[in-house]
Amino acid sequence: DGITLQKVRDYVWEIPQEGEMRAPARVLASEQLLDEISDDKTLQQLKNATHLPGITKHAICMPDGHQGYGFPVGGVGALDAEDGCISPGAVGYDINCGVRMMTTNLSYEDVQGKEEELVEALFANVPSGLGGGGIVESGVDTVNEVLERGVEWAVEEGYGVEDDLRACEDEGRRPDADPSAISQKAKDRGKNQLGSLGSGNHFLEVQRVTDVFREGVADEFELEEDQIVVLIHCGSRGLGHQTCNDYLRKIEKTHSGLLNQLPDKELAAAPAGSQLAEEYYGAMCAAINFAWVNRQLIMHRTRRVFEKVFDRTWEQMEMHLLYDVAHNIAKKEQHTVDGDDKTLYVHRKGATRAFPAGHPEVPAAYRDVGQPIIIPGSMGAGSYVLRGGEHSMEETFGSTAHGAGRLMSRTQAKNEYWGGDVQDDLEEQEQIYVKAQSGATVAEEAPGVYKDVDEVVRVSDALGIGDKVARTFPVCNIKG
Ligand code: 5GP
Ligand code: MN
Ligand code: MN
Repeated sequence: DGITLQKVRDYVWEIPQEGEMRAPARVLASEQLLDEISDDKTLQQLKNATHLPGITKHAICMPDGHQGYGFPVGGVGALDAEDGCISPGAVGYDINCGVRMMTTNLSYEDVQGKEEELVEALFANVPSGLGGGGIVESGVDTVNEVLERGVEWAVEEGYGVEDDLRACEDEGRRPDADPSAISQKAKDRGKNQLGSLGSGNHFLEVQRVTDVFREGVADEFELEEDQIVVLIHCGSRGLGHQTCNDYLRKIEKTHSGLLNQLPDKELAAAPAGSQLAEEYYGAMCAAINFAWVNRQLIMHRTRRVFEKVFDRTWEQMEMHLLYDVAHNIAKKEQHTVDGDDKTLYVHRKGATRAFPAGHPEVPAAYRDVGQPIIIPGSMGAGSYVLRGGEHSMEETFGSTAHGAGRLMSRTQAKNEYWGGDVQDDLEEQEQIYVKAQSGATVAEEAPGVYKDVDEVVRVSDALGIGDKVARTFPVCNIKG
């Protein structure tokens, strides 16, 4: 629709600043990925995002970018935390949707022949789907504690160990969380969803490591070829969704002036320093804690399932959390921009933090090599572990991609694929065992609906924002 991109250099494209734009926008992609990105509203949404007050340097689209609610998925927007704004649409509905990877000392051989038993046991024990309760059936008091304390609460209750905290961003607790900024309705929705995958795109996948690209870093991450690892992808369920909704509505009421200046209502934002900006930030941080606990509970339940299936303790199987990455968040961070120190709300929506070696916010265990980054591909393709690259701070405010990225809408996918056939093909051709609550979900998430994850990761590596460490391939997968 007439958006012209200028090539800055290999893999870097710019939408020059014009009209009401407050900064240029950049797309990080190969020519192949750029073709796919240009197919939907992504570029227009990216351009719209540059109208947000306080947008710093440029709005950025990662190589896996595609259109989202207002702000593109795969989008990074650093907005000045003093005279800019914060935007729930640029965080996303599923606050702190993210992935965590747990390593093991099992090899693919240990699991071969047991895939069906394992997938059945996981499916029976890890709550998934739209309804169906969670691992912890809690009251509002518990929800409040979870919102306030994050994974610390889970460890205290016996759903994990101290080491799990050390492998989480912020040790699994956002200190800025304000449970009182979460509505009763959101808490009620969260009450019986604590420890549940949810539906659609969320999954738990057992994988084997197929390739190691950087031996030294892989050693630090405890990764080696043929090893079994577990990937968990889910977020804050109804609680996060309700919170996003609540604040979009509050912004409409309180800050309609700013809203009316923006080219798309879905970019609704609260001005930095306003009471509503503070409230949303506190609420979002609380929902982040909720999602961290959600993934922690699922991980701990997975350890129990492995104990039953393999008849060893999880400690004997060395089931350690490698890392937990959030890919739908905003965070107050310090960045140097053109020589000045700035406090920014860095919005990463469908984008992953990618801090390099030496950054003080990288957990001590990984500070020498850079933070682990986890990029899922699809239930029929590879996934990747990367490490924060040395150019990430200046290129992307310390960020990279979060997945392969969708190529096709859910509706299109259901016309194109039949869930049962997808499952049969995966099992017969690739020995991948998939179990889902609904066949429609399998169709909507068929490998063919996603872009080429190898290409996405190649671009991240070439730009030096996230470097390839290892590649994995699915063994079995449960879905909502
Ligand atoms: P999102 O958070 O945007 O829904 O998804 C993140 C990424 O997960 C997607 O872009 C896609 O590449 C990947 N993905 C979706 N389903 C699966 C799956 O079943 N297994 C793996 N390994 N990756 C998946
Ligand atoms: Mn996600
Ligand atoms: Mn999600």
